[in-house]
Amino acid sequence: MEVRSTTDRRATRAVTLSHPRSPVTVGGGAPVSVQSMTTTKTADVDGTLQQIYALAAAGADIVRCTCNDADAAAGLARIVPRSPVPLVADIHHNHRMGLAALEAGVACLRLNPGNIRRPEHIKAVASEARDRGVPIRIGVNGGSLDPALYRKYGDEVTPEAMVESAKVEMAHFDEVGFHDVKISVKASSVPLMIDAYRLLSEETDAPLHLGVTEAGPLPGGLVKSTAGIGTLLAEGIGDTIRYSLTADPVEEAKAGRLLLEAMGLRERTNVDLIACPSCGRAEIDVIEVARQAQEAFADREIPLQVAVMGCVVNGPGEARDADLGIAAGNKRGHLFVKGQNIAVVPEDEMVGSLVEWADYIVEHGVEAALERADTAKAAREAEKDRQRLLREQGDDVNASEQRVELIKKQVDH
Ligand code: SF4
Repeated sequence: MEVRSTTDRRATRAVTLSHPRSPVTVGGGAPVSVQSMTTTKTADVDGTLQQIYALAAAGADIVRCTCNDADAAAGLARIVPRSPVPLVADIHHNHRMGLAALEAGVACLRLNPGNIRRPEHIKAVASEARDRGVPIRIGVNGGSLDPALYRKYGDEVTPEAMVESAKVEMAHFDEVGFHDVKISVKASSVPLMIDAYRLLSEETDAPLHLGVTEAGPLPGGLVKSTAGIGTLLAEGIGDTIRYSLTADPVEEAKAGRLLLEAMGLRERTNVDLIACPSCGRAEIDVIEVARQAQEAFADREIPLQVAVMGCVVNGPGEARDADLGIAAGNKRGHLFVKGQNIAVVPEDEMVGSLVEWADYIVEHGVEAALERADTAKAAREAEKDRQRLLREQGDDVNASEQRVELIKKQVDH
């Protein structure tokens, strides 16, 4: 399935996270990658690996694990060789954990300049990473900004303060000849993070890792993350993304993947389910049928756009660009492919038929599906139900025109 973003991406240099089977390049025109983070104790090797596999299956290209003590570092040494994706070790406060994570064989480190501040510690980790060819993400976080910078910018977290924090860290890295960096300037405020990333993108060609930090539980966390990350991606800014949700991290991976697919930045791996919002014309419970369809397609890798439409009056026309769809009418489901009716099925077989035809299209293509169908008969049946609905409901099922007339009369009096 073709990737169709119309946005020019900002040019960045490439950084590669090594992995024996699935290395991931970030920046340099590589596909925008999805990240998530485990919530298990990293010392719990099997539990953490289970979560890493679930995240990879949900769409994560890169997974981060905390490396907060010696047990976590030992856990990483056992997890790394069994992980299906490159792992990033999250390092806060103790630079020795960075060195231990490098020894464990991770593909990348994340350092927070707000809480590892001694230049000799930063340089020790950067030198070791340089020697091992391991990139580092400079992970500036609005909530844990270096206190000196916080004071310098008037006791306020500003985009300038966040970008300066990243630049101070980069200068330490430069001193030891280390340039393999990605950068993030996350904040929980969407406008702040957008401004910080915009500013940062003008100052460096390092690849950028986007995120709204502590975005919170669903649905607010999803909305905030999508607003922040989506806005920047639409401007061509960003090379890798993470949704930071207070939820099962699998939701983060799914959301990241879906955002990139919706924006045409990654190939679709599964069904893009579209559905009408329903209205007075609906002949079925659209929400329920869409839910059933979502469930039926959930674990199937079918890269098609599939439509669930509440009525045959407008459904096939409104969803004519979908690869496949179904519209309800007179207790029957009217299946259509690229807007052309192909079959009529009983209402309770609608979802099953959708899946069956989707499989057929994936295997044989749209043209073959249209040839297989008795399109003339299906169109006649759809027209019959359409006319019946129009007779019963009229052209204006929501009685909008009657309401407009009433309003006019009230205003005139
Ligand atoms: S007119 Fe038909 S397809 Fe359009 S919203 Fe109403 S039920 Fe759905």
